[in-house]
Amino acid sequence: PEEQFEPSPDKKTLVILGTGWGAVSLLKKLDTENYNVVVVSPRNYFLFTPLLPSCTTGLIEHRSIMEPIRNILRQKKATVKFFEAEATKIDYEKRIVHISDDSEIKGDISDTEVPFDMLVIGVGAENATFGIPGVRENSCFLKEVNDAQNIRKRVMDCVETAMFKDQTEDEVKRLLHMVVVGGGPTGVEFAGELKDFFNDDLKKWIPEIQDNFHVTLVEALPNVLPMFSKQLIDYTESTFKEEEITIRTKTMVKNVTDKYIEAQVTNPDGSKSIEKIPYGLLVWATGNAVRPVIRDLMGQIPAQKDSRRGLAVNEYLVVNGAENIWAVGDCAITNYAPTAQVAGQEGAFLARLFNTMAKTDAIEKELQHLSDTQSQAKSNDERNQILDEIRERQKQLRRTKQIGPFQYSHQGSLAYIGKERAVADISWLSGNIASGGTLTYLFWRSAYLSMCFSSRNRVLVAFDWIKARLFGRDVSRE
Ligand code: FAD
Ligand code: NAD
Repeated sequence: PEEQFEPSPDKKTLVILGTGWGAVSLLKKLDTENYNVVVVSPRNYFLFTPLLPSCTTGLIEHRSIMEPIRNILRQKKATVKFFEAEATKIDYEKRIVHISDDSEIKGDISDTEVPFDMLVIGVGAENATFGIPGVRENSCFLKEVNDAQNIRKRVMDCVETAMFKDQTEDEVKRLLHMVVVGGGPTGVEFAGELKDFFNDDLKKWIPEIQDNFHVTLVEALPNVLPMFSKQLIDYTESTFKEEEITIRTKTMVKNVTDKYIEAQVTNPDGSKSIEKIPYGLLVWATGNAVRPVIRDLMGQIPAQKDSRRGLAVNEYLVVNGAENIWAVGDCAITNYAPTAQVAGQEGAFLARLFNTMAKTDAIEKELQHLSDTQSQAKSNDERNQILDEIRERQKQLRRTKQIGPFQYSHQGSLAYIGKERAVADISWLSGNIASGGTLTYLFWRSAYLSMCFSSRNRVLVAFDWIKARLFGRDVSRE
């Protein structure tokens, strides 16, 4: 690893975009000595997203779930180049990625190009807003570290502003109304964490907010958590009832202002009405949308003209209609949900594929060399010996080439729902187990601790949990 990065002319340049679940699991398993590997991402760390909702309340400190990419790369056998930059355009014809340093400090050069022989796109997705007016200006998303920090600050700002001297009653109610839009796992987990924060700490520290602090989860469909089994949806809904989190289903937000949302509500008789719901904090969690750099690439490849939600890929994760370009994770469209589990397995699959391709290349080169020497062999014995070696290599080649297409193995879905309870649909042998409750929660915690990438992260997260148990969450607003 100490050696300088000298792109070797006899190796292909493999450019990887992103440092998320897909890209990092590829990097972890890739034999980097076979390629000139270049990683480009605006984020110089990996983020363990499953625990991000816990950072919004300070239960877990955000740095505990970040892993510096430099730390991951320094453990690789051959040097990997990393550029902290955003890929602004992928030029398919020229086989070049345009990159731009969008951080605060810029040098003389902040825009340049990176050529590639092979490209893996793992840039994830951005937040869907469906073009609903006012969403971007007024709500918080929950995808990145700064989103969680932003929410943490705003929850406390709402509380302290509500406590301001002579605040009117209506305004206190509005400021303490925490509205979450989107009843997918992100929305559900955040609502649960927020209510825990209130129950465990806020109401003890600031008892005056007790009667007015409310959490409402707004969902357009008839129920929350559509990917979970019916039994677990019911369990989540009844737990939320106990926790006094209001679920507003069949309520589709159409407009957002700085103080209220406007939603179309489907009433029990099927009629529709528009309702204004005032809020202090609005968290928007309505799923994924395609990033502009991906949409632009889709426009350059005729075979992608019918894709809408992301890059269509084949069963080897090759971008349809493109050569030597692969896509993993949330920016690729497969038959699976856009989850960390899928992205991680896709990244690991590509590592295996690339390691095999490098081995295949090496054997093919040896074969070429052997057949050249065979033609120059001086005796029959020598020729036969070389022939045996050729047969052996050919066998090896057939074996290594036998890499099957990507197959996803679903380990189960797991979500925290507050009150030290979690729901889990776990694949077990050939069946499914649906479980909800405190044991599931303990399982949830240990599962995440064992999944956390480095032992450093594992220790930090465990300490954060203990710290919050002993001293409560920190309510100071940074
Ligand atoms: P990401 O992990 O989002 O990584 C994308 C990477 O690309 C980032 O490093 C980003 O900085 C970089 N990037 C962005 N734009 C560019 C660009 N233009 N050029 C170069 N790089 C770029 N899934 C589960 O399976 N279980 C869970 O419990 C779970 N919990 C979640 C909780 C939350 C709050 C959220 C938001 C998601 C959760 N998910 C969970 C979903 C999971 O995080 C995603 O499916 C997963 O992150 C997708 O991996 P990815 O590699 O495609 O993208
Ligand atoms: P999602 O797409 O799963 O859910 C978004 C929800 O928002 C949908 O139920 C949709 O009906 C609703 N919605 C959309 N527009 C609306 C509107 N205008 N008004 C009201 N409701 C509206 O999004 P997510 O929860 O962010 O999850 C994204 C992906 O990440 C999913 O694949 C999910 O499985 C994964 N994830 C998994 C976990 C976990 O496993 N614990 C946690 C978080 C995210």
